[in-house]
Amino acid sequence: MKELVVDLGDRSYPIYIGSGLLAKKELYSPHVVAKQVMIVTNETIAPLYLQQVVNALSGDYQVDTVILPDGECYKNLTTLDMIYSALLAGKHNRKTTLIALGGGVVGDMTGFAAASYQRGVAFMQIPTTVLSQVDSSVGGKTGVNHALGKNMIGAFHQPNAVIIDTDSLDTLPAREFSAGMAEVIKYGLIGDTDFLQWLDENMSALMARDKALLVEAITRSCSNKAQVVARDEHEGGIRAILNLGHTFGHAIETEQGYGVWLHGEAVAAGTIMASALSASMGMISDDDVAFVVDLHRRANLPLQGPAKMLPERYLELMAVDKKVLDGSLRLVLLRQLGDAYVTSALAVEDIRAIIAQYSA
Ligand code: NAD
Ligand code: MG
Repeated sequence: MKELVVDLGDRSYPIYIGSGLLAKKELYSPHVVAKQVMIVTNETIAPLYLQQVVNALSGDYQVDTVILPDGECYKNLTTLDMIYSALLAGKHNRKTTLIALGGGVVGDMTGFAAASYQRGVAFMQIPTTVLSQVDSSVGGKTGVNHALGKNMIGAFHQPNAVIIDTDSLDTLPAREFSAGMAEVIKYGLIGDTDFLQWLDENMSALMARDKALLVEAITRSCSNKAQVVARDEHEGGIRAILNLGHTFGHAIETEQGYGVWLHGEAVAAGTIMASALSASMGMISDDDVAFVVDLHRRANLPLQGPAKMLPERYLELMAVDKKVLDGSLRLVLLRQLGDAYVTSALAVEDIRAIIAQYSA
């Protein structure tokens, strides 16, 4: 088992990464605040993993569970109310501990329920998708969607531990697995050339879900994210580099309707566009762009935006992205592979040309 710490002063917390961790009682007990626990999961994950978590906790605590419907379309205030109702029905008090067992949807909703129930209670993350293991479970962003915008209602609320059991990835559909790899590749591109090299060498074994390599890839991803979050918890500055490819990606997700393109798939196409834009501005080479494209290809990710989505539509949607400050479009670009920065010194013409070039 590997262990990392997200260094946030008195809100620091450990991330445990390894095989067979779900059943390990001793990983939970230091982080359960008192006698009550509420496990939040969904109807897909419950039959697969809920019993293991319940068993690890039973005997010592009042263990209640709430099973949400599965899907991004349920990540809203209506579904959130199921968590509050379960907490109130079980008479959970301010010392309860919520446990999110599932992907990013369950994690974001449970985190927000924990941030708001009785003005804030503790929670742990047990992420079960690649994306949630390397990204959403670490960093404390929680929330739900609104009909008028994704993740528009939320709070920063850090978990008090993250337990990543790589065995849970055995049942993850291939498409979800690939989508998570887009965020893994992102960490290499924004700040870790050694990791990028390592990914290049190990991509096929990773895609075959080699356990030891997965532990390594997840650990290095979490470590990169933890370092960025420790420097800028509330995204006042450097944390924005985690959004490499995401402004293009969000435009794709919005245009296609949520769920048609998975987040990671949209980020893959967006990262390729951001890389190509970086090259067109003279920062990275064309060979570097080819390397980025190839890495995504080997992770079975899309290499272009959706057919028939016009550059104008991207630009429209990118202009309303919440990362736009004061009306000027800000994007994450690559100074070199492994060195990202945020800029608003952009010519719309250049962006339009790159989108056109990378649209199927
Ligand atoms: P998800 O939670 O919808 O999970 C994807 C699908 O896989 C779901 O159907 C889920 O039930 C299923 N699943 C999960 N684990 C499984 C397993 N082990 N075996 C079989 N099936 C499994 O999607 P996701 O990609 O994990 O997360 C996406 C969400 O995360 C989005 O809502 C996004 O906004 C959010 N997010 C949040 C942050 C953050 O910092 N908080 C960062 C990135 C993404
Ligand atoms: Mg992302």
